[in-house]
Amino acid sequence: IVQVCMPLNTLGFVFRETNDALVNVERMFSVLAGERYGEAGGGIGDEDRDEPGARDLVVAAGEIVFEHVDFGYDPARQVLHDISFRASAGHTIAVVGGSGSGKSTLVRLLFRLYAPSRGTISIDGQDLRQVTRRTLREAIGIVPQDTVLFNETIAYNIGYGRVRATRADIVRAARAAQLDAFIERLPDHYDTRVGERGLRLSGGERQRIAIARAFLKDPPIIVFDEATSALDTRSERAIQTEFRRLAQGRTSIVIAHRLSTVVDADRILVMEHGRIVEQGTHDELIARPHGVYARMWALQREQGELEHTQRRLAAQP
Ligand code: ADP
Ligand code: MG
Repeated sequence: IVQVCMPLNTLGFVFRETNDALVNVERMFSVLAGERYGEAGGGIGDEDRDEPGARDLVVAAGEIVFEHVDFGYDPARQVLHDISFRASAGHTIAVVGGSGSGKSTLVRLLFRLYAPSRGTISIDGQDLRQVTRRTLREAIGIVPQDTVLFNETIAYNIGYGRVRATRADIVRAARAAQLDAFIERLPDHYDTRVGERGLRLSGGERQRIAIARAFLKDPPIIVFDEATSALDTRSERAIQTEFRRLAQGRTSIVIAHRLSTVVDADRILVMEHGRIVEQGTHDELIARPHGVYARMWALQREQGELEHTQRRLAAQP
């Protein structure tokens, strides 16, 4: 495992997310909350209702396929152009690209907050247009960039969205997300109040709560929106380790900002202006003489910041 935690924005790519994008990721999460509050469907996109005759999604392997997908929030302005890729069952796909290139939009379509204007998205061969939103959203766990906590106990925050979760389930999830030692040190342990009016947690701790939620949900598909702002190196590495554990045996899509995540992915999608301009493994992409990905890699090498990574890559079998 490559242990480099260098933000890709040092490469010349602009990876800063707008506040707007952040808000959207949070809204996405509030759709998950919709399950809990019985607002099936959520009501974010323009098509809240399931198609007549929609069936429950049955996930066997968890293979995601985008085929020639076009999309625009506004019909007059196309945002995604001819997106095609396959996330094989159990694989991790990293999506990289500058701000506004369409990374979050891709995830919103997968979550069926919106439907493509052309092309199809399917999971295990089932077109998302023909499955019920409830079963689709049950199959996907999301770890957003910035997790908003409720002014509630830490147990509530981990169990959020899973009404039937027992305390034992919550403790198990916290353990899986490596949160248990941290929680044991809190004054009231699992009953400690967190959030705006309680104990303030760091970005890394909040993201780990989202990871714990995802463990509790135990979905076959995971979406991880990596934090852009630098966490301290230690918590960043810890989160990557926990994410890798979460991704084990699941299909995952990572909006990636860290080289280590990108390098470890089974496949990398490089996005520019709503198009996938390159896709392949790290090795395939750096082998392209004038490739976008190769260029960012070379740029960083010139800056002498990659020696550590390169040594580790060379040491890998
Ligand atoms: P990224 O996640 O790569 O930063 P996004 O998928 O958020 O990019 O955005 C892609 C494009 O779609 C941008 O031009 C952005 O302004 C636009 N966009 C994003 N969300 C919305 C929205 N809710 N309504 C209209 N346009 C949007
Ligand atoms: Mg985004």
